[in-house]
Amino acid sequence: HTSAPALGSWPARRARIAPGSPALVAGERTVTYAELADRTARLANVLAERGVRPGDRVAYLGVNAISVFETYFAAWLLGAIVAPLNYRLAAAEIRYMLEDSGSSLLVHSADTDALVAATGPAVPVLKVGPEYEDAVAATEPLVDPPAVTLDDPAILLYTSGTTGRPKAAVLTHGNLTWNTINQLAHVDVLSTDRALCISPLFHCVGLGQVTLPTLFKGGCVEPLASFDAGAVLARIGEVGVTSFSAVPTMLQMMVEHPSWETSTLDTLHTVLYGGSPVQERVARAWLDRGVQVQQGYGMTEASPGVYMVPRGAAQLSGAGNRPVSVGVPHFATEVAMFRDGERVPVGPEPAELLVRGPHVFAGYWNRPEESAAAFVDGEWFRTGDVLRVAADGWADVVDRVKDVIISGGENIYPAEVEAVLVQLDAVADAAVVAVPDERWGEVGAAYVQLREGAELSEEDLRSHLQAHLARYKIPKYLVPTDALPRNATGKVRRVELRARAADDFAGERPR
Ligand code: ATP
Ligand code: MG
Repeated sequence: HTSAPALGSWPARRARIAPGSPALVAGERTVTYAELADRTARLANVLAERGVRPGDRVAYLGVNAISVFETYFAAWLLGAIVAPLNYRLAAAEIRYMLEDSGSSLLVHSADTDALVAATGPAVPVLKVGPEYEDAVAATEPLVDPPAVTLDDPAILLYTSGTTGRPKAAVLTHGNLTWNTINQLAHVDVLSTDRALCISPLFHCVGLGQVTLPTLFKGGCVEPLASFDAGAVLARIGEVGVTSFSAVPTMLQMMVEHPSWETSTLDTLHTVLYGGSPVQERVARAWLDRGVQVQQGYGMTEASPGVYMVPRGAAQLSGAGNRPVSVGVPHFATEVAMFRDGERVPVGPEPAELLVRGPHVFAGYWNRPEESAAAFVDGEWFRTGDVLRVAADGWADVVDRVKDVIISGGENIYPAEVEAVLVQLDAVADAAVVAVPDERWGEVGAAYVQLREGAELSEEDLRSHLQAHLARYKIPKYLVPTDALPRNATGKVRRVELRARAADDFAGERPR
C-alpha cells in the first residue's frame, strides 16, 4: 500500500523525531537528519529533471561519501533503483554493469574521473562536486513523491563475483528493511552511536550490517573513503567510535598494525564482520581486547544477514571456545539444508544451507534461469555454502559447495586445511584449491604466504599438517607465494588461483 515506510522516507521520518541529530559526518562536514531529508528531497527532483522515473536505474560510482547516501535516498524517494558499482573494477566491467543494469543515469564522484573517462558511459553523468551542489541548491525539494511499496525493488546489488561474473541481486525496500530489523534484534544499535562506515557501500557488508541500522535508529555514520588500518584505529579514540562493520581482512590488518596495542578501543561497543572466513587468532585478538566482535554470515542475496553471533555470547566461556562460529539465525530468518536433492532440517552433518525470510531476494536482475535455479521449492534460497549446525542452533561455515575438493571420493574442505595452515605463526595467509589429478580425480594445492622474515621448510609445514589433519586432506602441492589474489571485499579470487594451480600442476604424472 502507498503509505508504506519505504527507504526513501527514512531521512524525513528520522527528522520528525530528532531533526538536529547528526546523520552523516565526513571531514569537517556534518549533515543532520533535517538536512539529509531536505537535501535528498532536492536531489530527488534533480534526478527527476534528468529523466529518472520510478523503476529506472541510477548507477553510482565512487568511494564512501555523504553523496552516496544522498543519491541512494533520493533515488529511493523517487521509486528508482540504485545500482552501486565497484570502483575497483576495470572500465570494461563498469561498462558491462551499466548495460546489464540498464542504468539511465550515472552519478559519480571525482575519485572515479579516470575510470569514468575510460568507461565512456553511454548514459548521462552527474558528477558530485560543484555541479551537483549547485543543482541541489537551485532545485526545490520534491513535495509529492510517488507511492513506493515495500515490494518495489530498491537496489541492484552486485555479488562479489567470487564464483563467476558478479550477478545483480534485486533487493526490495522490504528486503533491506527486514535486514535492518534483523540486525537490530541481534545487535545493539543506539541513537547515540557514532559508527564508522569502512566497508565499501557498493557491497552488502558496508550497507546492511551497521550503516542502514544506525541510520534507522538515528545514530551518526561517518563514511570513510578508503580503509587504512592505522587511521581507523586512531579514529576510534579520536571521536569515540562506537561501532563498525568490516570484512575479516580488515580486522586482521588492524590486529597486525603497529598501533594495535596502544590504540584506545574503550568506546567501541559493537564490531560486526563477515563475508569470508576469519582466522581464529584474529577473532581472539579482538575478543581479548574486550570488544564485542560479532561474526555474521550472509550473502548479497539475503540483504545480507543470515546468521550472527548473539551479543554477549562471544564473551561467554562456552562461546569463547567457538570464536569462529557464526552464531544463530537472524530473528526473521528460517534455515534448512539441502541433502541428496531434498530439503531437510539443519543438523551437524555438513550440507548446503537453504534460507528463507522476508529479507531474502526474489531473483537476480535479468537472469531468469539463474534466478529459478537459485531456489528450492520456489522459496528456499540455495546459499551455495556448506554449513554444519550444532544441536543448540549454533552454526559453522564449512566452505563453499563449489570449492570442495573431491579427492579419491573423499570431500576435502579447503577452509579446514587453511585454518590449520594459518595456525602456524610463520604463516600469514593461505589458500587451498583443487587441481585435476589423474589418480585421485582432484588433489589440493596450497598457496602459502609467509610472514615477512619468517622461515618455514616444506617438511615443517607437512609435519604440522600431518599432526592436525587426516592424510587424504593434506595438499599434494605446497607452494610459497608472495600474496594471495583478493577482490575488493577481501575474498580470495579462487577462480584465478585454480587457473594458476592448473597451469602449475595439472598434467603432472601421477606419483
Ligand atoms: P558470487 O556470488 O558472485 O560468487 P560471493 O558469493 O562472494 O560472490 P557475496 O554475496 O559478497 O558474494 O558473499 C557471500 C558469500 O560469502 C557467502 O555465500 C559465503 O560463501 C561467504 N561468507 C559470508 N559470510 C561468511 C562467514 N562469516 N564465513 C565464511 N564465509 C562467509
Ligand atoms: Mg554468492
